[in-house]
Amino acid sequence: MIDVLVIGGGNAALCAALSASENGAKKILLLESAPKKERGGNSIHTRNIRVMHDAPMGQLTDAYSEDEFFEDLLKVTAGKTNEALARQVICESSTCPPWMQRHGVRFQASLGGTLHLSRTNNFFLGGGKALVNAYYRSLESLGIEVRYDSSVCEIEIEHGRVHAVCVQSSQGLKERIVAKAVVVASGGFESNREWLRDAWGPAADQFLIRGCRFNMGVLLRDLIAKGAQSIGDPTQGHCVAIDARSPPYDGGIVTRIDCVSLGIVVNKYAQRFYDEGEDFWPKRYAIWGRLVAQQPDQIAYSIIDAKAQGRFMPPVFPGETAQDIGTLATRLGLNPQALTATVEAYNQAVVPGKFDHAVLDNCHTQSITPAKTHWAQRLDTPPYTAYPLRPGITFTYLGVRVNERSQVLFDDFSPNLFAAGEIMAGNVLGQGYVAGVGMTIGTVFGRIAGEQAARTALLV
Ligand SMILES: Cc1cc2nc3c(=O)[nH]c(=O)nc-3n(C[C@H](O)[C@H](O)[C@H](O)COP(=O)(O)OP(=O)(O)OC[C@H]3O[C@@H](n4cnc5c(N)ncnc54)[C@H](O)[C@@H]3O)c2cc1C
Repeated sequence: MIDVLVIGGGNAALCAALSASENGAKKILLLESAPKKERGGNSIHTRNIRVMHDAPMGQLTDAYSEDEFFEDLLKVTAGKTNEALARQVICESSTCPPWMQRHGVRFQASLGGTLHLSRTNNFFLGGGKALVNAYYRSLESLGIEVRYDSSVCEIEIEHGRVHAVCVQSSQGLKERIVAKAVVVASGGFESNREWLRDAWGPAADQFLIRGCRFNMGVLLRDLIAKGAQSIGDPTQGHCVAIDARSPPYDGGIVTRIDCVSLGIVVNKYAQRFYDEGEDFWPKRYAIWGRLVAQQPDQIAYSIIDAKAQGRFMPPVFPGETAQDIGTLATRLGLNPQALTATVEAYNQAVVPGKFDHAVLDNCHTQSITPAKTHWAQRLDTPPYTAYPLRPGITFTYLGVRVNERSQVLFDDFSPNLFAAGEIMAGNVLGQGYVAGVGMTIGTVFGRIAGEQAARTALLV
């Protein structure tokens, strides 16, 4: 019989399988929906993990205390977080980097032009793909069995105790596998368009999925239907504005448009609709997906002039450019008179100040709605460049409720079902996002889930 069966093939699942092995489990099986070449879920797209530290640590500068990390989380979630679990994640995050290194992950200095995270976030050398590959290599060296193309369609549960899982291959072959303990780390439901539509309405048809196509929420739905307590709201998730020309799945990080605060953003009627300079981009990038989703046809355009060039990470697709705003509008399919009028009104409203993108500067507008409160400069230097924007869904927050041992809660906690990663991230992230915390939650709770599952299996 399998000691510990792990469902999923991303960061949380891999950490759980490694930790189960470290804690004495002998027969460990990891089931990944994806074929081998697409393994790793959303984790392959990641670049960094947020880590608490009391003094400079490796590539991390200065200190980032438990309280500061918790304050950051509290701000973005507006209090929608389980404080005990959140502090557990934060405190244990400091032990993650050495553990990750032991399993082959390497770190590098924070990338210039990203979200200014050198103090708080550890960057993976080679990105998430290299991290995932390192963990799979470590699994192999520990003799942990991995099966690709293996989607778990159902978990057999009685009174919160798991007996077996039903797994299906892409050829439709079904198999029942009995295990002493199970870790479910199968992501959220962000790849499931029907479920997104149920949550968001028809706007969801225009969403682009930034990550993998395998996180369909099959087991999230199965567990909730079988009495697991749910946490979070299906409309909450991480949603950023990305290039409208991105592929429907797996566009990854390079499709994000990071020049919003350097120019203006208009909708399909060439109207501005939100303060582009409300706060530093790292604190605002995750609201723009929702803002675009609320616009007609869920489309918007980020417009800059030549002064902005070189001040942001260039996205993968080149922008549309023109020497004048009217021509730019025509190229975008917008009404040229309307866009020209919007830019003129904005330019007139700009109160010149001392431009400094590194601080909340005094360049702002007056007598215009919406205002632009920082980094407002006239759009007056050709060529003008525009990027079309769509909502890009990163991951969803609806999940199963867990306790500090990562046991899934039914009427009581399950004795042998544990959850880690996106499927339980809603316990810590009720709304909002602070960069890098997805990997923190998955690594910390993956390790806890693996350890607890191993202990449970050894007792049986
Ligand atoms: C473009 C992008 C960039 C990101 N950047 C960062 C970052 O820099 N830092 C950060 O902290 N977070 C980042 N995130 C969020 C991060 O990806 C997630 O928080 C994290 O990867 C979640 O890990 P996970 O293991 O729970 O899910 P995943 O990595 O998505 O893994 C889920 C796995 O479950 C498998 N699966 C699904 N259903 C089944 C089933 N029924 N049976 C078997 N297997 C199944 C999937 O194939 C997949 O392998 C980013 C996300 C995206 C999309």
